[in-house]
Amino acid sequence: ACKSVQTALMEHIDKHGLGKEVKVVETGCMGPCDLGPVVMIFPDGVFYRKLKPEDAAEIVSEHLLKGKVVQRLLHQPVGQTEKVTSFDQLDFFKRQTRIALRNTGVINPESVEEYIARDGYRALGQALSQMTPQQVVDTIKESGLRGRGGAGFPTGLKWEFTARATGSPKYVVCNADEGDPGAFMDRSILEGDPHSVLEAMAICGYAIGAAKGYIYVRAEYPLAVERLETAIAKAREYGLLGTNIFGTGFDFDVEIRVGAGAFVCGEETALLASIEGQRGEPRPKPPFPAQAGLWGKPTVINNVETWANVPPIILKGAQWFASIGTEKSKGTKVFALAGKVNNTGLVEVPMGTTLREIIFDIGGGIPGGKKFKAVQTGGPSGGCIPAEYLDTPVDYESLSKLGTIMGSGGMIIVDEDTCMVDLAKFFLEFVQEESCGKCAPCRIGTKRMLEILERITTGRGREGDIELLEELSQVIKSSALCGLGQTAPNPVLSTLRYFRSEYESHIRDKK
Ligand code: SF4
Repeated sequence: ACKSVQTALMEHIDKHGLGKEVKVVETGCMGPCDLGPVVMIFPDGVFYRKLKPEDAAEIVSEHLLKGKVVQRLLHQPVGQTEKVTSFDQLDFFKRQTRIALRNTGVINPESVEEYIARDGYRALGQALSQMTPQQVVDTIKESGLRGRGGAGFPTGLKWEFTARATGSPKYVVCNADEGDPGAFMDRSILEGDPHSVLEAMAICGYAIGAAKGYIYVRAEYPLAVERLETAIAKAREYGLLGTNIFGTGFDFDVEIRVGAGAFVCGEETALLASIEGQRGEPRPKPPFPAQAGLWGKPTVINNVETWANVPPIILKGAQWFASIGTEKSKGTKVFALAGKVNNTGLVEVPMGTTLREIIFDIGGGIPGGKKFKAVQTGGPSGGCIPAEYLDTPVDYESLSKLGTIMGSGGMIIVDEDTCMVDLAKFFLEFVQEESCGKCAPCRIGTKRMLEILERITTGRGREGDIELLEELSQVIKSSALCGLGQTAPNPVLSTLRYFRSEYESHIRDKK
């Protein structure tokens, strides 16, 4: 849809002979899914939403030629009487702090010049020319940055373990195998700002003593792969990747590996096996990748959003980053708001922002006057949070206390019409399908759980089914080999914790 609007705009601009004065720049996603396709006109900053190719003629003839804003194409937020003309008037944007998403939707991701114009590669230059590798590691450690892929492990510590590990060569890996249903944070960064990831990986390479990086990206993201390829080629052309970067003698290059779409390959040991050309199956840890990763060598592996935070931390300093967020969860987090919420899309907020602020102030609340029932965080590895906890600050610790996780940032909102047992079944079906089958608790245990849920939701539930679900959940959590299996029961456990009566009424009423 965006492409056809872009093509139509270019045609009309040419038709009116404005080709030399007006430039159409394609950017990555700006975030608000329900408003797309979106066009912003500069220098005035007016934005038009939900465009169709046939709107292009009026934008050119009225706005570009006569300077008149096309009122019918402006956005009117739910509950407001006034239309808004610029992005920063939207509640959706006003309340965000964009660090990882600083360039997405702003620059042309295929232009290294535009990235450079927004301070791109300055952090790499600064690290190489003014900092020792240990100072880079210390800066990341002091910033408090933790892994944004799900586990929340301190990034600087991971870098330090790898820097200190014996073994050579060392590797830097980007996990871009985003697979949670409803999550598209990493995709948006790769499609909208691929150089930020390349720059961060090079900074890490310098810090830990690695000259080679791999980006493992899923094949379902063809545009991300294409933009990464373009970015790597441009960075090499400009001497920002390759040998003797900035004339400092530092060598670092990046290759892309395209994954075939197995969810389990997002698990770091399975991902590393897949890069090596082996079957993408997890292996027991320890040893951790910092000691024995790619081809048995010390390896740092971080996810896309984690990488995107690195250049601003180097440029603005650890204290700047650490001043954002909560005591133990620093910086911001990108969430993909989806489901029953008015403003769906990508939002980036300081850690510690409450669920209520995210869902109601930024997300605009629940459509159709329905009641909020719960929010599922952390995708299939996470859990649901009911209405009474809407004022919970979103950080690693608070979510964990409620029996869920931050995960990679999926936030699926459900309203009063949603059956929570169905929701748990949906996620369990997903992980059951994606189980690699290597270990019995996950391969067989999730299958048995799914059979019980199937029974319950089709009016054939039996007395004792709930207890059996709980028992199986505990066994799988404690004995599955990798994170996929260990967290698979979470949606069932959390819906049982907060919505047990729905399970009971399915069984009792045979419905
Ligand atoms: Fe495979 Fe599941 Fe075992 Fe992980 S827990 S190794 S996904 S079978």
